[in-house]
Amino acid sequence: MQNFNEFIKDLGELIAIKSVQRKAEKDAPFGTDVKNALLWFLKKAESFGFKTINYDNYAGEIVYGNGQEVGIIGHLDVVPVANDWHYPPFALTKKDGYYIGRGVGDDKGAMLLTLYALKELKDSGTVCNKKIRFFVGTNEESGWEDVKYLKTKTTLPKYGFSPDGNFPVSYAEKGFYYVKANIPPFKNFGAITGGTVINAVCAKASVRPKGEFDKTLLAKYGLTYNSGEIISLGVAAHGSQPSLGKNAILPLLRFLKDSGEDVGDFIDYLFLDKWEICSMKNAQGYVTFSPNLVKENIDGGTEISCDMRIPAPFTVDAVKEKMKNCPLDITVIDHEHPPVMTEKDGKFVQVLLKAYNETTSEKLAPVSMGGSTFARVFLKGCAFGPEFPNVNFHLHEADERVKEEHLLTAYDIYKKALFDLAALKEDL
Ligand SMILES: [Zn+2]
Repeated sequence: MQNFNEFIKDLGELIAIKSVQRKAEKDAPFGTDVKNALLWFLKKAESFGFKTINYDNYAGEIVYGNGQEVGIIGHLDVVPVANDWHYPPFALTKKDGYYIGRGVGDDKGAMLLTLYALKELKDSGTVCNKKIRFFVGTNEESGWEDVKYLKTKTTLPKYGFSPDGNFPVSYAEKGFYYVKANIPPFKNFGAITGGTVINAVCAKASVRPKGEFDKTLLAKYGLTYNSGEIISLGVAAHGSQPSLGKNAILPLLRFLKDSGEDVGDFIDYLFLDKWEICSMKNAQGYVTFSPNLVKENIDGGTEISCDMRIPAPFTVDAVKEKMKNCPLDITVIDHEHPPVMTEKDGKFVQVLLKAYNETTSEKLAPVSMGGSTFARVFLKGCAFGPEFPNVNFHLHEADERVKEEHLLTAYDIYKKALFDLAALKEDL
């Protein structure tokens, strides 16, 4: 990287802006700090000679080149910090070959690397046969309101990548389809409560007996009884990979069934896949279904919220068809993230993949993922770095950090991808 010292100085300035979402102020929909990060970035781009657009402080755009549009999108907002950091979170610290600070990996570092790579493309005088539209998001971590606003103001390119995921390149993301079911009130027990968030496998659930119950059933299902509560412990895992965890709700339901409660259908469908949803599989993986969050509903029954992930080209409709004859009353919570997929062997994925493989001398294949990234704002979107396979940047955690060598390699990958896209005379 030609001007690494200048890059590090800039990264330090950007990290020092505490761009955690706060309440809206005049002309600052996500708070003044987030707005300042956006203004800083656009000003930096202008100082490099780029034309920029500010979408009313919701998002920005940096434009370069002529031809078929190719999008890039990342974000400058960061998640809050707790007091478990060993270094100042809003300053760039260098220690043992690492750069440490909130946003260094997610996503300020990658945003600045991309900007510097685009500058190198421009300064090289190479003809750019694509119109690069580099979008600067400011609300990725808490609601994507920036993108919603952006879409009311402009039409986003069909193809695009987001430097806010993993290398080598992700060509498909499962869709989310969050649903809930309600179990009628139990005769001899209160409602089940447990779980923390809908997208994490429930690691603890409990239920209160209203009177006597068969204590011999506790051991059968690995439950404990304490302070008037029957407790089930499982193992947490990300909601996109429920098989890596152990759901704490199922043993409780089995216990309740043996205790004479009418929960058989809930066990059969939500946990034992009687509707055969989780056997739906394609090259991008299985449909996953994980009932993760349980709480008392207004009738005194139990509401179970479930995280379902659907790999493209399966659609939500295909899953709905399977759910049609199920006797449970299933309602939809969130269906705003459909499955997305870019052709694995298509030109766009291959340009990005080649940039990774040639820079690193590896021979990896494109990957698909169960999570969701900003890439999905494009019809054909790919997540593309900055995290390397088997490298942990400690995103969203204390002491978020990136090794200097990874910053430099990521830079070379983004640079090669931009130069190769610029050289492409034909359309993607
Ligand atoms: Zn991010």
